[in-house]
Amino acid sequence: RPRIGVLALQGDVREHLAALREAGADAVGVRRPAELDDVQGLVIPGGESTTIDKLTKIFELREPLLKRISEGLPVYGSCAGMIMLADEIRDIAPGQESLGGLDIVVRRNAFGRQVESFETDLDVQGLDGGPFRAVFIRAPWVEAVGPDVEVLASVATEAGERAVAVRQGNLLATSFHPEISGDHRVHRLFAEMVVATQ
Ligand code: GLN
Repeated sequence: RPRIGVLALQGDVREHLAALREAGADAVGVRRPAELDDVQGLVIPGGESTTIDKLTKIFELREPLLKRISEGLPVYGSCAGMIMLADEIRDIAPGQESLGGLDIVVRRNAFGRQVESFETDLDVQGLDGGPFRAVFIRAPWVEAVGPDVEVLASVATEAGERAVAVRQGNLLATSFHPEISGDHRVHRLFAEMVVATQ
């Protein structure tokens, strides 16, 4: 069983821990550098990216996170977690920084101007068994992707097609929240990515 951490500073940590366990992983909260050393993969949950950014600095996790990401740690970011993994953020808050790693440009609260939250059935590349019920809550979208980024799912918006699930190497990100839909296929996909690196 892969040992997968959930960054437990803010956001829907418990839901990810439960979904990872359902997906067959040993799941643990990560709040200190020593706990980060101990995991083979990491989930950065949804919540508020500005708060998660501040807390990673206060808890002295920013440098260790940057180091492990650069060494190839598999990381899955959902919603605010996607923002944390993006190399570039649009509608960024003053002083906000991401960790980066994913060669994407995300726009924070992108759907918010049209609608705060919504659900839709998405075809996600790499997930067998039909469409995935995706829940979006003040979600970012992906505005641009680099050449090494695979787009796994997109939605049609007034602004055109926007990517909402992407992968680049060991980094996976979704605009939506798979931890609250009762469908654990995204967590299973991530657990398989972690196993593949061992
Ligand atoms: N709007 C939040 C942010 O900017 C993300 C929302 C979420 O994670 N559900 O971080």
